[in-house]
Amino acid sequence: MKDQKPGEFDLISSIRRQKQPLPKSILQSIGDDCATIDSSLLHRLVISTDLLVEDVHFRRAWTSPHLLGMKSALVNLSDLAAMGANPVACLLSLGLPRTDTAEFFDNFISGFLRTCREAGMPLIGGDLSTARQVCISVTVMGTVPEGEPLYRSSAREGDSVLIIGDLGYSRYGLNFLESHSLPGLSDVKVLTELELGTDDPEVIKAVGRHLLPEVHLESAQWLRREGMANAMIDVSDGLGNDLMHILEESHVAAEIDLGQLPGLAGVGEEERIDLALNGGEDYALLFTASAIQLAQLTDRYPGHLPPWKKIGEITGGAPELVLNLRGMRSIYSRKGYDHFQ
Ligand code: ADP
Ligand code: MG
Repeated sequence: MKDQKPGEFDLISSIRRQKQPLPKSILQSIGDDCATIDSSLLHRLVISTDLLVEDVHFRRAWTSPHLLGMKSALVNLSDLAAMGANPVACLLSLGLPRTDTAEFFDNFISGFLRTCREAGMPLIGGDLSTARQVCISVTVMGTVPEGEPLYRSSAREGDSVLIIGDLGYSRYGLNFLESHSLPGLSDVKVLTELELGTDDPEVIKAVGRHLLPEVHLESAQWLRREGMANAMIDVSDGLGNDLMHILEESHVAAEIDLGQLPGLAGVGEEERIDLALNGGEDYALLFTASAIQLAQLTDRYPGHLPPWKKIGEITGGAPELVLNLRGMRSIYSRKGYDHFQ
């Protein structure tokens, strides 16, 4: 009897049938052994990869294949944003269980390609395999058409520490999903309609942020193009961890004002600060700016982009993060998630 399940090549063909506009630099997309990029059209090529594993990074019961597809593309776009880069193309490798492969694949790909289209980042290749659990590896490529990317290593003593986006919501949303048994989320329902059993707007926002992070690509590109930032990183592992990355790479220290962190309303101060410092998966943009850059930001930062906020200052000395709460100082110690500890 003929197997009715689609094979690997049917799955690849279904991606190829979905037309994706290609920039001039992409000479060969899906269909050959390698994709080909005309690198002479790109001043600096930046490249990054991320691995998402079922039951480590996500649970299928708490999301939908479509949302997971969107999030897989978004978290990788956030790495391009952290460099101030423009997306060029991406690769997607999927390990999929044999059960409901086709249904999962179609919905996942429709979400993934939706985000790719919105970002102008065509999918130009990848690989497929069966696996016990869903594994998603995405590689993104971007370009910085002139000048240099924004590195973690360029923070200077006297810089302000600035942030764009929220902190702590994603973790709060994850905690909520963990502690409430929810039926599988349907594909196209918008998040505010999800049956979360609450109409608390902060909870709805938090679950929404966890399932579909807000990535600040346009703000990041503007900051780099206009020379408004020295060092930059996307906050994926908690503000504390990620600011420490800047401090270590730049060989400086910092002091932040915990009262200024853009965290959740409606939870106690201690929880709000803990979520903001140690939460993870915020995808906020953390950057440093000199006094001159800060003055120009105040004058020129576009009004249609999410606002920036000053949360602290870069100081001299060995890499160390000082936390200031109403004048009480303490030293940050790492609490973010580590896969191997
Ligand atoms: P190979 O045998 O060289 O690994 P495949 O048969 O796996 O090639 O893939 C055929 C084409 O389809 C290649 O261009 C590959 O990049 C593309 N492809 C395979 N899987 C995916 C995927 N998940 N997403 C996008 N393109 C894919
Ligand atoms: Mg292959």
